[in-house]
Amino acid sequence: MDLEDIWQAALGELEVVLSKANFTTWFKGTALVDIQDSNAIIAVPNIFTKEWFEKRYNQEIIKTLRKITNNQILKITYQIKTNTSPQPIINPKKPPVVAGQQDIKDIVKNGSESESTVLKLRPEYTFDSFIVGSTNRLAYAASMAVSQTPGKVHNPLVIYGGVGLGKTHLIHAIGNALKKNNSSLKLLYTSCEDFANDFVQSIQSKKTDAFKKKYRSIDIFLVDDIQFLSRKEGTQEEFFHTFNALHQNDRQIVMTADRIPTAIPDLEDRLSSRFAMGMVADILPPDFETRLAILKEKSQQLKQDINQEILSLIAESFINNIRELEGALNRVIACGQMEDQPLTIELARQALKDQLKSKSAHNLSPNKLLDLVAAHYGITIDDISGKRRKKEYVRPRHMVMYLLRSEFNLSYPIIGDILSGKDHTTIMHGVNVIERELGKNDQLRDDLSVLRTQLYSGQGAA
Ligand code: ADP
Ligand code: MG
Repeated sequence: MDLEDIWQAALGELEVVLSKANFTTWFKGTALVDIQDSNAIIAVPNIFTKEWFEKRYNQEIIKTLRKITNNQILKITYQIKTNTSPQPIINPKKPPVVAGQQDIKDIVKNGSESESTVLKLRPEYTFDSFIVGSTNRLAYAASMAVSQTPGKVHNPLVIYGGVGLGKTHLIHAIGNALKKNNSSLKLLYTSCEDFANDFVQSIQSKKTDAFKKKYRSIDIFLVDDIQFLSRKEGTQEEFFHTFNALHQNDRQIVMTADRIPTAIPDLEDRLSSRFAMGMVADILPPDFETRLAILKEKSQQLKQDINQEILSLIAESFINNIRELEGALNRVIACGQMEDQPLTIELARQALKDQLKSKSAHNLSPNKLLDLVAAHYGITIDDISGKRRKKEYVRPRHMVMYLLRSEFNLSYPIIGDILSGKDHTTIMHGVNVIERELGKNDQLRDDLSVLRTQLYSGQGAA
């Protein structure tokens, strides 16, 4: 097999694995130019493709090449070669589908940009269907404010937090609300990945002017998952200019990320500093009350009448993210339907058996929580349960009260008992203090986030 045969065979396999649009965009103009021992040299048309391959497709390409070359290939080097004669994409009979084309077609349809992008907004992701709790209140409030006075209060708004915590839901809710209140606004919702795709596509098809026009003439720019900018110099550069053009004209920009922008690897400082110019709001995993409320809301949406005990079981067991919570609820509902009998707690337990088992392996206990908090703040358990009102003790004490309430769903009197017989009003007060402070104290939010992670990952104090 010569190099070209190998590459054609690889393309054939890759085409099956990757989406058609992705495949055509990225593999056009690529070639296997050499194999040096175990290193395959692949020529790519530009820096974007190189970055993309390195980051996204490297594993897949190696796997495919190994298969074809009897495990000879261990490594790939991507070389930028501007004058590679375009490699015909296999299956030339099929009309080539080009990524971004659909987007662009949508966008220019009827000359109306807003029309098309609204199609991408999910109508069920609204503020109404979003349950607010202490850990997402800030993000919710900021999103509401933006949807009421776009471009004025928080610009840009960045919402960040872990997977399945409602970032996409909120950014859609902003879009839906803006659209409803002011249908003449030109609104563009995109994922950062689509933005990058579109950008590369515009370079390849020499339509960067159209690209600029499209992104710089809008009123509202909603971009999901900007961590995708990581290590993509070209796209970062373009994003920077798009951002500036919009921001200077008070166009509202909303972004989401899976972490605080300053923590996105290899994101240029000029970008992360601009992202911090407006409001940066985080979302943490929901506490028990919020989890229960979400389950109620979802079961209502599904027109299912599920009793409180079952919902509590789910809310107690699935703590890390809301997608997981929804998954558990759906499983329970499906199980009830399959058995064709009313849902009981036993049936729910049965439905969630496997998941519950792995949860209990975490060995959550109030004692473990006390240990963790004491270790986190560098004090002893006695300091926490004691009565001394030194500042160094009071904050951790309140934190324990808050976590016993939010994570263990214990009653105020029981929490009082755990903390050497404190009065239940003392506990209520402590929980309130933390709830109030969470909205404005970054340090506290970080502490909480760390403690929760440790609590559920089995790290930290034993
Ligand atoms: P992320 O973008 O942060 O990964 P999503 O926005 O996709 O998370 O949320 C995952 C699922 O959880 C979605 O179905 C969403 O509707 C739901 N969800 C998240 N937060 C809430 C909330 N506060 N209230 C109701 N549903 C929520
Ligand atoms: Mg998301």
